[in-house]
Amino acid sequence: MHQSIQPSNLTTPAAPVRDGGAGTPIPMFDLTRQYRQIGRELEAAVLAVLSRTEYVGGTAVAEFEKLLGDFCKAQAIAISSGTDAILASLMALHIGPGDLVITTPFTFFATGGCIARTGAKPVFVDIHPDTFLLNQDAVEQALKPAVRCVIPVHLFGQMMPMKALVKWACDHGISVLEDAAQCIGAHDPDGIVPGELSAAAALSFYPTKNLGAAGDAGAVLTRMDAFAARIRQTRQHGEVSRYVHDFVGGNFRLDAMQCAILTAKLTHLPQWNLRRNEIATFYDAALAETDVIPPTRIPHARHVFHQYVIRTPKRDELKEYLARQGIGSMVYYPKPLHLQQCFADLGYRPGSLPVAEAACREVLALPIFPELTEQELNRVANAIRGFFGKRAMA
Ligand SMILES: *Cc1c(COP(=O)(O)O)cnc(C)c1O
Repeated sequence: MHQSIQPSNLTTPAAPVRDGGAGTPIPMFDLTRQYRQIGRELEAAVLAVLSRTEYVGGTAVAEFEKLLGDFCKAQAIAISSGTDAILASLMALHIGPGDLVITTPFTFFATGGCIARTGAKPVFVDIHPDTFLLNQDAVEQALKPAVRCVIPVHLFGQMMPMKALVKWACDHGISVLEDAAQCIGAHDPDGIVPGELSAAAALSFYPTKNLGAAGDAGAVLTRMDAFAARIRQTRQHGEVSRYVHDFVGGNFRLDAMQCAILTAKLTHLPQWNLRRNEIATFYDAALAETDVIPPTRIPHARHVFHQYVIRTPKRDELKEYLARQGIGSMVYYPKPLHLQQCFADLGYRPGSLPVAEAACREVLALPIFPELTEQELNRVANAIRGFFGKRAMA
């Protein structure tokens, strides 16, 4: 597909190969390994766009939207970031001042921030203690006449089951917008994919996501033609025809260069997601005898393990212990949205949403990117086993 341009001076830098042996740092995430494998493809894709000089819109964008739509079984509209995909969707759903939007406080800031930017008010409700996903009972208890939308977040790569939520929302005239930033390639226990039952799903291609651009990028998925058209219009300042604006949108376009890179990378995504699952299965077994609580998988669903998140009351000590052995780990998320200063006027207090607050104190994400070696995985697992006083695996 991208073979047409092959200048002889293309270089894929040879980064030192890390062996994962004792003492070698194990990063939480490392894109240089992916670049070493597919750098040539990406360079060819970028140069093709560069020489074609079609930088905004055009073939590369259309090609990516077609491929992504086929992969996700929906219409795909390329958007400037995952945040903008959420914002554009809320705008296209006519969410604004006076409206309430229910969501989880245990998520990346964008979910709540976009709600506030429309002029609507976020309503944060508590999460499920096992899956960290929005708790549907809590959602239902938050029902009020002003609730216009609910945003489930498919956290860490696992989808919240959609059928029951969408049914409840439809019964009450509420729109469902999925924050699918972390779950491309996943399906729920009924085989439902993002954007299938809801109004729309927002994807992010931030570089660290399962499918990452070389910069900011995102997309909206929807099965409704009219909504897809509305999103396209919102992406282009609400323009109906050249310089004619029916409503106010924004510049939410995604560059052709990013689309070309994402087109090249998308073909690798199924393999990468499988590898993430293999790593998760390895960690599950290796940590089974320790005191950590492994991530709960919803049966019959497909998890894509954007993050592998364990839980332990000794989280901070464990993180420190791993760091001393050069092993990276991260806390997603240390502070829930309902306790952020910018949402202080909503009136939540420490203790308002105890399940989410406990999760913030106890979760720890382990390295899980596809290029991790067996040796590195063994070292991570054995370090955690050691912390809990268990023997190292052979
Ligand atoms: C990454 C992410 C976003 C935002 O995506 P950007 O592309 O960084 O704007 C939104 N929600 C969640 C849950 C995310 O993980």
